[in-house]
Amino acid sequence: MILNSLSKFFWRRISFLFTFSVLCMLIVSVTYFAGERITSADAGKDTAAMPKDEITVIIDAGHGGRDGGASTEDGVLEKHLNLAVAKKVQALLSCANVNVVMTRESDIMLADEDSSHKKRDDLNARLHMADAYENCVFVSIHMNKFPVAKYSGLQVYYSKNNEESQWLAEGIQAKAGEFLQGGNSRTVKAADDSIYILHNIKVPAVLVECGFLSNPEEAALLQTEAYQNKLAALICASVLEYLGRAD
Ligand SMILES: [Zn+2]
Repeated sequence: MILNSLSKFFWRRISFLFTFSVLCMLIVSVTYFAGERITSADAGKDTAAMPKDEITVIIDAGHGGRDGGASTEDGVLEKHLNLAVAKKVQALLSCANVNVVMTRESDIMLADEDSSHKKRDDLNARLHMADAYENCVFVSIHMNKFPVAKYSGLQVYYSKNNEESQWLAEGIQAKAGEFLQGGNSRTVKAADDSIYILHNIKVPAVLVECGFLSNPEEAALLQTEAYQNKLAALICASVLEYLGRAD
């Protein structure tokens, strides 16, 4: 019995390590092929001094502060999971010497406490961050929720305002089906005006709904470090492919 449990434990570890290694190799190879396009940036570097063709990747952890976003059945808030995944994407992209900017790095809402329209201010603040960069791509991280528990799977939305958005979205969606969820046959969706940021942003932009908090099995996975690492790896690999293509 103990041996059986131990072997299951080790098999799970080996299975995860194998998947994660494949994703890491993918990242390394894409970084290699992206070549000099991805150049290094020092922390705190003055953005005005950056070469014009250098792309900044803005990672947007959805919600924050008094805006918790969706929640699991037992009250785990989306905002925390978004930030956890966003920070992992930030770490991986930084390892690949990509300029990364986060819209938030802590549990805050990007709006004044005394504003009467905090949610709109918060979204506009995120939009303005993208406006501040001459050359950037915007990746927003969210978790999904639906009234029916059976639905699961990563879903990517893209902005119709820049034709590059769909290419990046398809890369993330395809990798989710290939490396994360074999049964995920979802296709990317163009964002309508219900997704304010994607509807209004001008730069290439995608929004990744990493999974459904309304599905108990997927909600449990989304809270694990191992699954968050896989999500971050496939998002990172897709962004690196995008940056290589933009060369
Ligand atoms: Zn959300």
